[in-house]
Amino acid sequence: MTELRPLREVIAKHNLNASKALGQNFILDQNLLDRIAQVPGKLEGQSVLEIGPGPGGLTRALLKAGAKISAIEKDLRCIPALTELKKVYPDSLSIEVGDALQFDHDRLLNNKPYHVVGNLPYNVGTALLVKWLNADPWPPMWKSLTLMFQVEVAERIIAKPNTKAFGRLSVLAQWRSDTQIAMKVHRSAFTPPPKVMSAVVHIEPRSPEPSVNPQVLAKLTEMAFAQRRKMLRQSLKNFSGAIEALTKVGIEPTRRPETVSVEEFVKVAQIMS
Ligand code: SAM
Repeated sequence: MTELRPLREVIAKHNLNASKALGQNFILDQNLLDRIAQVPGKLEGQSVLEIGPGPGGLTRALLKAGAKISAIEKDLRCIPALTELKKVYPDSLSIEVGDALQFDHDRLLNNKPYHVVGNLPYNVGTALLVKWLNADPWPPMWKSLTLMFQVEVAERIIAKPNTKAFGRLSVLAQWRSDTQIAMKVHRSAFTPPPKVMSAVVHIEPRSPEPSVNPQVLAKLTEMAFAQRRKMLRQSLKNFSGAIEALTKVGIEPTRRPETVSVEEFVKVAQIMS
């Protein structure tokens, strides 16, 4: 790493003033970046998809851990800084320019298993997460997701029933994956600091998955949580077969969605699939 200049210098040299529109809040603390890079486990020789490398702080930590990285960055201004990093690690880093939402990630990683790591821009983070969680077939090509979110979103991902945070994202994330908050990150760790606190979420797919049509489960949870204070019999009345399926599973239609466990939602969707 001796060849690499400090991140602050890289940012100054390439004039990388943080862009709000691109959700840019950089982490410069190499110790913190190393800790995030350790969350997926041993990365020596493993393929990693990194979303939004920016000036390359987390990228350095992942490279130091021995990962082979394909990175997707939307901001052209960051490419010269990343190209400098590639000069030091020519065989371990490839850089793609564009919107991560538009890429076929499996194809980019040669249809071989890979880990996903990213200090995501908040505005595209949830959309990317939903894309990965909806992967078909299952188990997906990705072996784990290690992603920074604002702490409220992280709490929704791992939430259990009968809590305020439990909702559509919790069911979607937990029905065939294990989820955990690996660490919370104070807003002051970012340059510039965002308004909210952040957390790194770690997600690993389970297999085999229950025989459920993911689209049915998605629609069921979307409708059930659209009005979370309403009883299920009200919010699901226009979803054909839903009330009958609830009754079959033994769920009182007078219950509210946040009292229904992930397993119960899956059973209902199984009957409807
Ligand atoms: N990884 C760096 C770090 O930890 O310091 C930067 C993190 S910053 C929060 C988010 C990065 O994602 C920025 O570099 C931004 O340009 C990039 N980005 C924003 N939208 C993107 C998109 N749709 N696809 C790929 N990268 C994107």
